[in-house]
Amino acid sequence: MEIACLDLEGVLVPEIWIAFAEKTGIKELRATTRDIPDYDVLMKQRLRILDEHNLGLPDIQAVIAEIKPLEGAKEFIDWLRERFQVVILSDTFYEFAQPLMRQLGFPALLCHKLETDEKGRVVNYKLRQANPKRQSVLAFKSLYYRVIAAGDSYNDTTMLAEADAGILFHAPDNVIREFPQFPAVQTFEDLKKEFLKASVRELIL
Ligand SMILES: [Mg+2]
Repeated sequence: MEIACLDLEGVLVPEIWIAFAEKTGIKELRATTRDIPDYDVLMKQRLRILDEHNLGLPDIQAVIAEIKPLEGAKEFIDWLRERFQVVILSDTFYEFAQPLMRQLGFPALLCHKLETDEKGRVVNYKLRQANPKRQSVLAFKSLYYRVIAAGDSYNDTTMLAEADAGILFHAPDNVIREFPQFPAVQTFEDLKKEFLKASVRELIL
C-alpha cells in the first residue's frame, strides 16, 4: 500500500501568514522563520500583532477564506486521491487552514492547533509534536505503508528523506541545490509524473 504525503503551504496553497499580511495590510505579519529563526518567538510576535489589531479567530478565518488555493491545486488533489491515500502534513494550524481546506475538499490534514478564549481571541498555540512531518512518515511506515512525499522547503526535507521517495515541488533554487538527491519539479503536471514514477504498484485507474 502506498500513501502520498504533501506539504500544504507553497505546494497547494500560498504561504498563509504572507497572504494574510497582504489581505490585512499588516506588514509585520510578513515575518517568517527566515527573519526570526526561533519559531516560538515568531509565533508569540504574531499572536501579539493579532491582538493589537483586535483580530479574533472569526475575523482571521474570514480573511483566510478569501485566499485561494494555488491554481490547479484542487484538480491535483482530486487526481492524487484517486490513486493514493493522501495525507497533508503541515506546520500550520487547523483553525487557519480550515477555510483553505474547505476549498480543497477537506483532505486529511495533520498539523498544529490554536487555543482561543470564549471571545475568539487567539491566546496560545500547541505544536502537535516535535519534528511532526518526519514522525508522521515514520508512523505510516510502521503501518507498512510505502510513503511518497512532496514539499517545497527546508521544513520538508526530513520528511522527504524519511519517505521511500521524496519530491521537491515549487522549491527555491537554494533548496534544490542543497538537496540534489530529490527530483525537483515546478508544475502539477510534472508532479503527477513524479508520483507515478515513484510508485511501485500497478495503478488501477
Ligand atoms: Mg511549504
